[in-house]
Amino acid sequence: MLADNLFLKIIDKRIPAKIAHEDDLCLAFHDIMPQAPVHVLIIPKKVIRTHADIAPEDQALIGHLHLIAAKLARELGLVQGYRLVINCDEHGGQTVPHLHMHLLGGRDMTWPPG
Ligand code: IMP
Repeated sequence: MLADNLFLKIIDKRIPAKIAHEDDLCLAFHDIMPQAPVHVLIIPKKVIRTHADIAPEDQALIGHLHLIAAKLARELGLVQGYRLVINCDEHGGQTVPHLHMHLLGGRDMTWPPG
């Protein structure tokens, strides 16, 4: 349900998370099942269900998420690079219905993704 998804509970601190960054627009926290030595989720506080729902008025917000991802990558020591992933809907493998960007790093990534 959009009004009360898992990530909104993390934003509201009803579910604990290891927070890496917070500001008025977004929250970043470590993934509970990390797929790499560094695996952080960066989410907007605004409810946007999925990537396909991003609207023109969200342009600055989406840019902000990218700036925070780059800042966190620097802070978390990902000097050799990293991968950003946004899973969209069923074929994309999205499991939580709140837009989120995965920041993955600390190991070599493979291509193509699974
Ligand atoms: P998706 O598959 O792109 O939707 O990614 C959802 C991510 O949320 C997965 O990587 C999960 O491991 C992660 N996740 C699910 N529940 C929690 C939680 O309570 N805290 C932190 N991460 C979570």
